[in-house]
Amino acid sequence: MGMVQEVRIANRTGFCYGVREAIDKAKESAVAGRSTHTLGQVVHNEGVIRDLVGFGVHSVETLDDVDEGAAVVIRAHGVSPEVFERAESRGLDVIDGTCTWVIQEQRQLQELVDEGYVIVLLGTPRHPEVVGLLGFAPDAIVVDEEEDWHRIPRRKRMALITQSTQPPWKFEKLAAFMVSRAHELKIVNTVCPVTIRRQEDTLETAREVDLMVVVGGRHSANTKELTRLCQIAGTPAVQIENASDLTDPAPFAGARVVGVTGGTSTPVEDLREVARRIFELAGTDDLVARAADLADAALEAAATPAGRTTSLPRDRIPVGAAGARADG
Ligand code: SF4
Repeated sequence: MGMVQEVRIANRTGFCYGVREAIDKAKESAVAGRSTHTLGQVVHNEGVIRDLVGFGVHSVETLDDVDEGAAVVIRAHGVSPEVFERAESRGLDVIDGTCTWVIQEQRQLQELVDEGYVIVLLGTPRHPEVVGLLGFAPDAIVVDEEEDWHRIPRRKRMALITQSTQPPWKFEKLAAFMVSRAHELKIVNTVCPVTIRRQEDTLETAREVDLMVVVGGRHSANTKELTRLCQIAGTPAVQIENASDLTDPAPFAGARVVGVTGGTSTPVEDLREVARRIFELAGTDDLVARAADLADAALEAAATPAGRTTSLPRDRIPVGAAGARADG
């Protein structure tokens, strides 16, 4: 039997406002009776996708898969202006779910283009947000890890801007690196505040516990960064997609207090499920039977203003939609 006595969920987890808004817009459109699609999966999370399907919202890979007159929701990551034009020319009802932070980022990038700067964009190549941003600045030089940075040329007037979810330390390091590459350097810090807070709160929890469990999409950059941060803090960390990935009690050997955190596209309900699973798998004998209640209490104890799965009023949630389990 295990020896886990306590599970602590990090503060301020759950969806970021950008993701929640995009999901809500899709649900609202469907509830209003419109045939609604999302361009690409809103988040790579099975539970969320199932929830949306319960509302009648399906994701499509391309605009060609949407019938004329139907609604298509642009995800929080945003898209290039060209995608908007194509959607409109096809007669689709475009619902813009681009996060307000990303919209601001796109505007600032456009300004840098207009001002004639040679632009360096810190971001993950091919990430949807970066692809969307490049629609505003096709000539921007995208760099990610430090090994890429030698590709940055020396130019008279240069500007640095970043994808919203890049770690702040990397942005600062790149800014310092670029000082010697340009005569004039303009720095626009577009690291999203939610990303910063999530990292701070995760670190805080990591410092208090014996082991961290990080929940999020396998390919989610912000989730991977959380795992890395825990390890930097000296706390072993396991990264999983959801509770069903926890089948082996071995990583919990010797852990008395376990921390749980999640990426910005992981709903708080998933963290509660993970907490429950940890108690069942590795809790002390007396706790196993109370796993569900303890998990509820763990979620309750975390200050989670972003802890709503949806901001839709309850009476707007169709009966039978998985979203009905939401905490309101
Ligand atoms: S991480 Fe920040 S910028 Fe990205 S969607 Fe969420 S709130 Fe918006």
